[in-house]
Amino acid sequence: MKFTEELTLRNNGHPLAEWDALDVGIRAIVDHIDQLSVLLFGKEIVVTSMILADGTHASARMVDIDVDEKNVYGGILPSEARVIREIVNAAFVYDPARPTKVVLMYGENDPSGAHYDHMHTQVCWDDRTIARNKHLRAWLETFA
Ligand SMILES: [Zn+2]
Repeated sequence: MKFTEELTLRNNGHPLAEWDALDVGIRAIVDHIDQLSVLLFGKEIVVTSMILADGTHASARMVDIDVDEKNVYGGILPSEARVIREIVNAAFVYDPARPTKVVLMYGENDPSGAHYDHMHTQVCWDDRTIARNKHLRAWLETFA
């Protein structure tokens, strides 16, 4: 996993300080996405946003990942983001009480159209986000 230069500068050269302050569930899922990307496409993901001072990311349960159409910054490609989106959303339930919400928003599954240049990943409060598969669920619970 890589971090953008902006994230590195904002954290005085240590983007992992911001990473470590995130909810453990979102760290587990973003780690999983990075492993999928390396396994399937041979490239690490590039994290573009973690905790923002204000706005939706302030909960520390959300991470943005670069999707780079022209592959300038080394982020994954749109076609690769779509494959990862389908795998992750098939594997994890964001909130069983709200089935329309998803863990990974990219492209077509966000009707607002705001997520074509990056993937937005999120977990729900109170450890509501769960894995559908029992093995993956046991793995996710080790982070709780
Ligand atoms: Zn986001």
